[in-house]
Order: sequence, then structure tokens, then C-alpha cells
Amino acid sequence: MTKRDFATINLAGAGLAGSLMAVYLAQKGYAVNVYERRPDMRKVEGDQGRSINLALSVRGIQALRETGMEEHVMKMAIPMYGRMIHDENGLQTFQAYSRDRKSCIYSISRAELNKSLMTMAESFEGIRFHFNKACEEMDFSSGKLVVKDTISGEKSVAPGTITLACDGAFSAIRYDMQKTPRFDFSQTYLAHGYKELTIPPGAGGTFLLEKHALHIWPRGHFMMIALPNPDGSFTCTLFFPFEGEKSFANLSTTEAVHTFFSEYFPDTLPLIPDLLNDFFANPTSSLVTIRCYPWIWEDKVALIGDAAHAIVPFFGQGMNAAFEDCTVLNQCMEEHGSDWGKIFAEYQQLRKNNAEAIANMALENFVEMRDTVADERFLFRKKVEHLLGQKFGPYFSRYELVSFSRIPYEEAYRRGLINQAILDELTDGRSDLAEIDFEKAETLINERLGADFTIPGFA
Ligand code: FAD
Repeated sequence: MTKRDFATINLAGAGLAGSLMAVYLAQKGYAVNVYERRPDMRKVEGDQGRSINLALSVRGIQALRETGMEEHVMKMAIPMYGRMIHDENGLQTFQAYSRDRKSCIYSISRAELNKSLMTMAESFEGIRFHFNKACEEMDFSSGKLVVKDTISGEKSVAPGTITLACDGAFSAIRYDMQKTPRFDFSQTYLAHGYKELTIPPGAGGTFLLEKHALHIWPRGHFMMIALPNPDGSFTCTLFFPFEGEKSFANLSTTEAVHTFFSEYFPDTLPLIPDLLNDFFANPTSSLVTIRCYPWIWEDKVALIGDAAHAIVPFFGQGMNAAFEDCTVLNQCMEEHGSDWGKIFAEYQQLRKNNAEAIANMALENFVEMRDTVADERFLFRKKVEHLLGQKFGPYFSRYELVSFSRIPYEEAYRRGLINQAILDELTDGRSDLAEIDFEKAETLINERLGADFTIPGFA
């Protein structure tokens, strides 16, 4: 490690990325001030009783491991080994995520994870959290960050001239960066929104659906999913168009909601006793993809996590990608000591294209989840894909590459396209496994994916 000067670093936002990044910095000996706009979530009542959960996978777990937080966090996590598909008659079919049926992603409460990260971060001497402090304004020439107390309204200048902006999809610091010359920015909303509903635990905290699966009710243009919580409940999320014939706009009465659920999700009716109350009490939220460039300003500012690249949630990678940003930034710190110009430039160079790739894959996965998982053709190709993985070492599905490996997202995207082309050649015009030419498959895989390719952890 190169010699560094132990400067004070400002961190905007004590969300998932901010709380984790604070630890990476403290481990390097930096003093860190974390400014969070909201009150301390450990001391206030939760989010209207809702319990949002997230899928945590290998990239996120790696960051937790490096910061010494893996063991504690994984105690709160529930492994999910595949998708449980619910058809319109309530029939359930399990689709494993990986060829070995052992690899899994983990369901974890977003709030509990965030609280734990903060508590663990606070145990480091150099880290100080400042709640009810909104980052308000950034002076890019001096690196001065103006912070406003959200209770008193008082403004002050934070000490230090280096700011890591972890202030989420609607980042105030990125907003100021937008006013600098040649800053590219786009935000694109889906026509679908989402609403959260709850399946409560059964008697004695039992799980009323399979505990170790991510449940999906694919219905073509829309879908519902459910992830397990440690108390036996499931958090359901309905992804549904805002407007149109089948839309939130048209589900405006209790009768309409009941009829809709009876028709499309009949098996959930006995499981969601508060459906009608929850449906109207819980907000309908929007889904946005945010792209921007650059992510950095000289040696003074860098955007991290959703502030740099908010994505839609259909690959379960927003937080994982945000945590991977922190891992990469940490590597850049190891390489360049306290030369923040070099650290930021390399971080941006290593992450920007990967963020683009996962943003695209997340959008594409929405179509797969809501539509094609229930489609015969898709299921046949999935079967062939699993066989290719079992028979031929170098073949990994895109899902495996994204969720169970740490190869760059851009590379997972590239290999995923090659997979598609190989599957097209092997399955076009065929619908029976007996018709698949596995000799040809082996040749194509070795030629196009490389005979020696593997990812650690897979037999
Ligand atoms: P955030 O977690 O949003 O944190 C930003 C923080 O900054 C907040 O605490 C906020 O209060 C604070 N802040 C904002 N403005 C200011 C300001 N001006 N000054 C100071 N503080 C400020 N990801 C996954 O990996 N897996 C999943 O399964 C998954 N599911 C999802 C499901 C849904 C419905 C949604 C919407 C997202 C999902 N995500 C998932 C994405 C994940 O939630 C985000 O990618 C992740 O929270 C990003 O972390 P962050 O720290 O960058 O931002």
C-alpha cells in the first residue's frame, strides 16, 4: 500500500452504500463524516410497518466479507435456491437458479441490513454519523460541501474537500454536477409501478409458502413476486402498469382489486388477509433507470451506488452493484494511496461500462420474469441451458454469471449474448431434448466461450 495522508472524507447518505463505504475508509485510517438527511432509522418507527426485502448475492457478500460484516449480516439472511413459479390455477413449479441447485441468493430486510451496517460502522473510531443533515450544495472548485440541518434549517460547511456521494437515485450532489459543463444525464421511468403487500406468518411463525424460493406469479405484461422474511412472513411486490386497461389506475375500488386478485392470483387471496387495506394504504411507487457521466470531479467528488446508476430491480442487483462499487473503490485506494485524482479516475473507468451492462440486463430480465418464465419455449431453452451447464464446464447461464460470480457485468453481458446465439443454433425448430446435438454444443461452447473458462465455487 502506498503512503497516504489521513484526510477527512465526507460521505453523503447513510444508506446501504454509504454505511458500507464508511467502513472501507475507516479501515484505511481515514476520518469519515457521514451526513444523512433522514433521522436515525434505528430510533424512529419503521416505514409504515412495511418490510421491504432485497436479494443479496455474491458481489454484495464479497464487500461484506472484506469489511468484516459478513458473519453478522448473513445471520439475518434467508437462502433462496430458485424461482417458484405460480400459475393461474395455483400450481407451483420450482426452477433452480443454478445447475448444481446449491447456489443461492439471499433474502434480507433492507431496513435491518441498513441498521446493522450503521451500527457496525459506528464501532470504528474514525466514523461519525450526522443525522438530519442534508447535503445541500457542492462547490466543485474548492470541494466544499454545504450541509443543512433539516430541523433547525442551519447551514454549515463540512470539514474536508473530498466527498463520496452515496445519496441515492435522486442525489443532491449529482444534481449539482448536472450544472457543470458536458455532464450527460438521463432518467427513464418504466410504464410499470410497484406496490408492496404482505403475506403474514402462519401459526407459530410458520412459512405459508416455500421458504427457500423467490416466488413469482408471471402474468405476461405484469407480475407479482414474494421474498421470505425471518419472521415467517413474505413481502410481495406487484409490478403493474400505471395506466391502461389492466392498470393501477383501473384498480380504484375494493371490488375491482378483489376481482383482479381472484382472476390472476387466486392462490394468494387466502394468504393476504389485509389485501384490500394494504392495497389502498400502501403507496404505488415508480421504477427508474438513471445513467450519467462523468461520475467524478477531479480529486474531489465521486458518485457511488444509485447516485451514479439507479437501475430497475429485476436482476436483484442494485444494492449488489452499489456494494461492488465500494469494493472497486477500495481496490483503487490500495493501488493509488492518497492520490484521489487517480483513485477516482480508475474507479470510474472500471465501473461505468459495468453499470451500463447491469442496467440493460435488469431491464431485459423484467421481460423474462413477467412473461417468458411461464412460456413453453422459454422452459425448453432453460432445460437445454441447464444441461449445457452440467455437461460442459465453461457454459454458465447469464443468471449464474451475474448472481454467483464476480466477473465484470460487462463480460457477463457479452457471454450472455454468446449463450443466446448457441442456444438459438441448438434449439431452433426443436422441442425435444432428444433432438439436441450435444457434440455440436461442445464444439460451439469451446470455440466461443473458451474451453478453460470457469467461475470459482462451481464443480
Ligand atoms: P440508498 O440506499 O437509496 O441510500 C441513499 C441514502 O442517502 C438514503 O439514506 C437517503 O436518505 C440519503 N440521502 C438522500 N439525499 C440526501 C442528501 N441530500 N443528503 C444526505 N443524505 C441523503 N437491489 C438489490 O441488490 N437486490 C434487490 O433485490 C433489490 N430489490 C429492489 C426492489 C425495489 C422495489 C427497489 C426500488 C430497489 C431494489 N434494489 C435491489 C435496489 C437497492 O435498493 C438500491 O440499489 C440500493 O438501495 C442503493 O443503495 P444506495 O446506498 O446507493 O442508495
